[in-house]
Amino acid sequence: MKVLVINAGSSSLKYQLLDMENEAVMANGIVERIGETVGKLTHKAFPDTDNEKKVVKEEEIKDHKIGMHMVLDLITGSEAGVISDPKEIDAIGHRVVQGGEAFTSACVVDGPVKVAIADNNPLAPLHNPANLMGIEVAEELFPGTPNVAVFDTEFHSTMPKEAFLYALPYDYYKELRIRRYGFHGTSHKYVSRKVAECMGKKADEINVITVHLGNGCSMAAVEKGKCQDTSMGMTPLAGVMMGTRSGDIDPAIVAYIAENKGMSATEVDSVLNKQSGLKGVCGLNDMRDIHSAVENGDEMAKLALDMFAYDVKKYIGAYTAVLGSIDAIVFTAGIGENDDITRALICENLSGLGIDMDFDKNNGRKGEPTAVHTDASKVQVWVIPTNEELQIAQEAVELLK
Ligand code: AMP
Repeated sequence: MKVLVINAGSSSLKYQLLDMENEAVMANGIVERIGETVGKLTHKAFPDTDNEKKVVKEEEIKDHKIGMHMVLDLITGSEAGVISDPKEIDAIGHRVVQGGEAFTSACVVDGPVKVAIADNNPLAPLHNPANLMGIEVAEELFPGTPNVAVFDTEFHSTMPKEAFLYALPYDYYKELRIRRYGFHGTSHKYVSRKVAECMGKKADEINVITVHLGNGCSMAAVEKGKCQDTSMGMTPLAGVMMGTRSGDIDPAIVAYIAENKGMSATEVDSVLNKQSGLKGVCGLNDMRDIHSAVENGDEMAKLALDMFAYDVKKYIGAYTAVLGSIDAIVFTAGIGENDDITRALICENLSGLGIDMDFDKNNGRKGEPTAVHTDASKVQVWVIPTNEELQIAQEAVELLK
């Protein structure tokens, strides 16, 4: 079975074509700057394991449909094609950010599903409309091919009420659907299952804390395969500090900034999303730049790094308490997979919780699942590359079986 995975953003479209017989990536790429004067399409094809073909096109890409058409031409073309007919694609898996309470699992897209996705637009105004557009473009370009929606929130739908409710007037939950939904669900699901496999266990036999640290950062407490709590909230602004997002702050700060800086609520929201986090503290949001700055004696970069590690450590403590005991911690995503310094800072002095990192094993970037704990550690510590596209494709295959 061949599955095309699509992640449509407001001005971009990421894609990956997988052969699910062997879970091999046949092609992937990104269409960027859709709607701008000069758009860009970067396409990579992998006709066989030792062969990679890359095509870059820079031209106006008026809308997502035109972008997807260009992708289809490349996938089926002679220059960097991997299939000869679009009909060879058996299913299209779509990342949809906000499933709300309507979606607790992946589903095949039909009319009512699209209405329900649109109903969640107010909860994810930047993402859901774009995700839906991706679905509609796929329906047009691949008539008859099933579309499957996989939701970022679905893995977190098992959270109990005491974990997902905010201590606000209860009516706000009913009327405005204000609650914790959590995000990065496909990643948390993928690595929590993968770590069980690596440990020779079933997912429902172990308790895991999953630590997704990328541009956006989130953590999840996973009890016997089910999400019990997660750090992102009603929106992806909550939880641990991120590249440009504040993470958790005292909510009274919002009104205080608005009053003292003469800003609207929307403007403060923008500061919290785009000018805060690592960038807010030290002016840099990429961890690689922060490490270079620290090496050059930049004290604010060191402070930002220490704050980041402290935040993640604090959540590890909280989630250990939530789960009662833990069998493993998994680091994943850009920082989690590649940044040994940050992983080490997070795991320093955690032996009281039974977590003993082997700092030698931890050294270096990890391109494959790697155990980084000492033999004596009660809790296993793993670095596992995430693979959200594969998780989406697996769910599509599962659903269409
Ligand atoms: P992601 O959103 O998962 O693609 O992660 C992106 C982030 O990963 C970047 O902003 C970097 O901060 C971080 N990152 C990627 N590679 C490295 C690396 N080698 N060392 C430290 N951080 C890295």
